[in-house]
Order: sequence, then C-alpha cells, then structure tokens
Amino acid sequence: MKSFLEIGLKSWLFKPLESIGLQDPTPVQKHCIPTILSGKDVVACAKTGSGKTLAFALPILQKLNEDPFGIFALILTPTRELAYQIADQFRIIGKSIGLKDCVIVGGMDMVTQSIELSKHPHIVVATPGRLADHLEREHDFTLKKIKFLVLDEADRLLEGNFDEQLKTIFPVLSAEKQVLLFSATMTDTLEKMRTLVMKKPFFYEAPAQV
Ligand code: ADP
Ligand code: MG
Repeated sequence: MKSFLEIGLKSWLFKPLESIGLQDPTPVQKHCIPTILSGKDVVACAKTGSGKTLAFALPILQKLNEDPFGIFALILTPTRELAYQIADQFRIIGKSIGLKDCVIVGGMDMVTQSIELSKHPHIVVATPGRLADHLEREHDFTLKKIKFLVLDEADRLLEGNFDEQLKTIFPVLSAEKQVLLFSATMTDTLEKMRTLVMKKPFFYEAPAQV
C-alpha cells in the first residue's frame, strides 16, 4: 500500500488529510495523483465513493501552492450539490495555504457571483449553465490562464444535455491546460472527449468488483 508521501505529495498536505482521518490514498488516488503531478491529461473511471474528488484536488492544490496565479483551476460538475461538496474538500485541504475558491451555480445572485469571480479566486467550481451565463454577459474575469480543467462526473457532463454550455465555455479556456476527466461509468464519453483535444491521456479504469 503506497502512502500519500510515496505518490509524490508534499508534507504540508498531510496535516489536513490527517485532520479528516485519511491515512492512505484510495486506488484511484494512487494511480492518478502521480500522473497528474507529472503534467499529463487523465481520464479516470471509478465507482461513486472511491475518492475521485481528492484524486484531482490534491495534485491541483500542490501545483497551485508551487506557482499560484490567476484562476488556476476550473472544475465543472453537473449539479450544484456536487459543486458545493467539491469546494468543501478543496477548502479543508487548501485552508493552510489561504485557498480562495468560488462556487458558481444556479439559484444564487448573479451580481454577487460576478463580484466573487472578479476577486481572483484560485479555484472556480461551477455548473456549466451558470458559468456560461456569466461568460455570455459582460464579465470581469478570465479563464485564459487556467492550468487545469476538471470535468467531474464527466459521463454526465458529456452525455449531451450540457453541449451548448460547454461550447460557450471551452473556447475561452487556456490552450495549455491539463484536462482531467473523472467519471463513475465509462460510456461513449470516450468518443466525445476527443473533441476536447486531450494530450495522449492516461487512462485509469478501476477493476470490476468480484
Ligand atoms: P467519488 O467522487 O469517487 O464519488 P468522493 O471523492 O466524494 O468520491 O469521496 C467519497 C468519500 O471518501 C468522501 O467522504 C471522502 O472524504 C472519502 N475519502 C476520500 N479519499 C479518501 C482516502 N484516501 N481514505 C479514506 N476516505 C477517503
Ligand atoms: Mg465525485
């Protein structure tokens, strides 16, 4: 069993991990974290509850701490509940480095969100609809310099319902970003992903339970 240290994480991350009772990485974390730290795009598929959030949050936070600037990462997820859950995990781990995050979901005031976005958060966690709404209006933030794009529940994001919004979002993102796709099921998502122009992604598929 590899430890968080052995998969390349820095010691400042251990205290917050211990504070929430996490001692060792889960399989999806063990496989994906070193690859993400090495700069590769990743497509990972593992069942719900397998720890996918920290599989992307930990390496993103480590890279952010090494070279913070601008909006560093954009995390897209299909529902507002998931957006809040993801932001919570980022906050717990990122507190000690002064992480500033911003959650952009429907049902909240657009003006308040615009102000939050203009304050240079490190991480934006968003549902595609509301982020696209902001991009289509006059706005005072840029996603041109993001280092990471995460599609959480990528199977659901890419199944078609979000196509219009994704078409608004993808063209305004940095071309140099690392793309990380996490999903519970490997559907025809694979086909659609090609349009995301990934750089030879690393594939991880959790072994089926026997
Ligand atoms: P998924 O996105 O794969 O459905 P989550 O990232 O939401 O799963 O994680 C599910 C639960 O597992 C969360 O409560 C999280 O705190 C916990 N968890 C994450 N990583 C670990 C770990 N390394 N050890 C133990 N529990 C973990
Ligand atoms: Mg998840």
